[in-house]
Amino acid sequence: MTYALMLIALAGLGFVAHAVLTRRRQLHALWREPVLRRPVLIIESDDWGAGPVAAQAEALHRLVDLLTRFHDCSGRHPVVTLAMVLAVPDGPAIRRTGHYHRLTLEHPMFAPVLAAIERGCKAGVFALQLHGLEHYWPPALMASDEPEVRTWREADPPALTECLPPHLQSRWTDASVLPSRPLAVEDIWRAVRAEVALFIRVFGARPRVAVPPTFVWNETVEAAWAAEGIEVVSTPGLRSSCRNAAGLPDCDSPPLRNLQSDRGVRYVVRDDYFEPERGHRAEDALRRLLDKWSCRRPCLLETHRSNFLGTAADTGRALAEIERLLSAALTRLPDLRFMSTAELAQPGAQVWTTAWPARLSAFLRRVTKAPGFRRLAVVTLVCVLTLAGAVVHAVL
Ligand SMILES: [Zn+2]
Repeated sequence: MTYALMLIALAGLGFVAHAVLTRRRQLHALWREPVLRRPVLIIESDDWGAGPVAAQAEALHRLVDLLTRFHDCSGRHPVVTLAMVLAVPDGPAIRRTGHYHRLTLEHPMFAPVLAAIERGCKAGVFALQLHGLEHYWPPALMASDEPEVRTWREADPPALTECLPPHLQSRWTDASVLPSRPLAVEDIWRAVRAEVALFIRVFGARPRVAVPPTFVWNETVEAAWAAEGIEVVSTPGLRSSCRNAAGLPDCDSPPLRNLQSDRGVRYVVRDDYFEPERGHRAEDALRRLLDKWSCRRPCLLETHRSNFLGTAADTGRALAEIERLLSAALTRLPDLRFMSTAELAQPGAQVWTTAWPARLSAFLRRVTKAPGFRRLAVVTLVCVLTLAGAVVHAVL
């Protein structure tokens, strides 16, 4: 019986060794992924810019008022990154001509939105990122013959981008048919040049971070962004390059990790969500922050402008949750740091460490949280204890 137990335990350890060997690339990637020296919280907010003027301007001013009341131990205010959409359809012109026309942030009507953004940037609480010239691919928008899409693109004033069917909100694939079709390489390069040029005209500086709309993009887009000076791409931890027959993001890449670099851009991983309009509370976001810090990873919280553009009560609730989150986070993690995503991903940023104790503890935490590894750890423990017990029994 004792020897049978030994054999079973050894077979179990052999199974574990085989499983670890087959996952060695994943383990290597977890080991190589950078390790934070201090906890970091960034709120990444998408879809700002072209769209409703008064509601956005007011929401942005209220965000500035709120964020400037907080600071970390280095005196830095919390940063909300704004992923900017630079244009919406010019509905009357489209109706008149039957061709696509855009209304860009250069139009004087958007001055109040730009003024609020400028105020936040000067106060150090906003950092601008590129979301896209549009939150859709214009030819795909025009190709759609769905009545609600036609109504949407011809609306005056422009309708909210958030109200388009989700598959058409992807910019970097032709989702006028499903499964979507890849865009021509030269069209992507031309569109990227145009969006970066417009961003510079509107904001006076080149964007350093891009947030792909709906997180659907491909390697050609990355290469074109890099050529235009984009350094960082915000990702959900993988790259989806198409929409499938059901209209969902698909054609996924292997996992992407923080500061992994490819085609001239570095990735950051933003896979935590803080959408008060969907019931997310400050406590949920705090849990995500603590979880990320336990693995020595930054916490980038995704939140959309739609949280702040509902009724006054809705906006008030969203702002109150942010206030409670910042307050609780600073109390729970006194060493918490606020910064922009561009600063986080800057080569040599002081917030990262290469110290061995931190790397080792981060690696072990990451491994236990990786799918499948917890089960392997349990099997290993059971096998080792069984083997030790059997050996002791045999000796005695
Ligand atoms: Zn978006």
